Amino acid sequence: MNTNDANEPQSPRADSGANETVKCLIIGSGPAGYTAAVYTARANLSPVLYEGMQPGGQLTTTTEIENFPGYPDGVSGFDFMEDLKKQALRFNVDIRRGVVTACDLSTKPCKVTIDGEKIVEAETLIICTGATAKYLGLPDEARYAGKGVSACATCDGFFYRKKTVAVVGGGDSACEEALYLAGLASKVYLIVRKDHLRASQIMQERVMCNPKIEVLFNTNTVGLFGEEFVEGAHLVRFKGEAKEEKFDIAIDGFFLAIGHTPNSGIFRPALATDENGYIQTVWGTAKTNIPGVFAAGDVADPNYRQAITAAGTGCIAAIETERYLNAIEHR
Ligand code: NDP
Repeated sequence: MNTNDANEPQSPRADSGANETVKCLIIGSGPAGYTAAVYTARANLSPVLYEGMQPGGQLTTTTEIENFPGYPDGVSGFDFMEDLKKQALRFNVDIRRGVVTACDLSTKPCKVTIDGEKIVEAETLIICTGATAKYLGLPDEARYAGKGVSACATCDGFFYRKKTVAVVGGGDSACEEALYLAGLASKVYLIVRKDHLRASQIMQERVMCNPKIEVLFNTNTVGLFGEEFVEGAHLVRFKGEAKEEKFDIAIDGFFLAIGHTPNSGIFRPALATDENGYIQTVWGTAKTNIPGVFAAGDVADPNYRQAITAAGTGCIAAIETERYLNAIEHR
């Protein structure tokens, strides 16, 4: 029996550990990374892709993607990323486990250290390292980490079946998390610091119509309490105003959905970023301030941060990589 099903995504290849030089190195395995990988592989650039800290990227923790063209019935984030990986493997992309721990962009080829050991010299580099969830910065978030505090409802929501939880944030992520949790928990508080939601209209309507979700507008979280696990949150309504009001809610889980920080630290200060750390690219391209180094997806996108825009910029980065290599070969 042939157990080698070509449709099954295979494990990343074993990395020999020896230093090497590659034509095209891609860091990150979200929609930007895999799209760049498919395009560069089909252009015969033999890309090597390191999956990074979170193989598959942020979408692996998203419940349902309803707005990626071509999926009329929606698709789960996990299935979507597995499909992208399968597609990359079909074109023989060298997908490996590993995290970039250092980077020297001052040389050509540039030198990228993987897991503190191996150095890959890359003629071109496509950075698709995405972004990471933000926390409020309360000491209690660290105190109750893994004991009721989470930044991923899809990962941890299962533990809160028939319990009461709170989600912080007013954007699409917060609404999505609140709706997901409402399918499991008995009650969901959505804690919003302003007097309105920032989320898209359709998500707002879904949240406001859900009988299990109570939205607490103009409200900030100032602390959590509980013996060992989270048992409640200390909240303040109209903080700093004359009508300020302090109150507590009893909850079992506290979920953060207040945005993300771009994963660009390792590439700074060599690469130019904006004040929030998003890698700056030449408008309409994936070109950074260093020739041969490109950035795509959320790490370079403070505005849209969608799967489709990440995939689009991954494609742009790949085409520009090919053009860059052609130009230096014919110099
Ligand atoms: P956003 O930046 O859109 O929203 C962050 C939310 O968190 C805002 O409501 C913000 O409040 C709030 N916030 C930030 N800091 C704090 C804080 N310290 N205390 C309390 N609240 C805080 O991030 P999202 O992750 O929601 O979305 C990012 C992008 O991804 C958006 O473009 C969104 O449309 C998209 N997205 C799309 C989805 C989909 O289409 N299915 C799903 C998820 C995301 P304030 O409004 O006051 O600034």
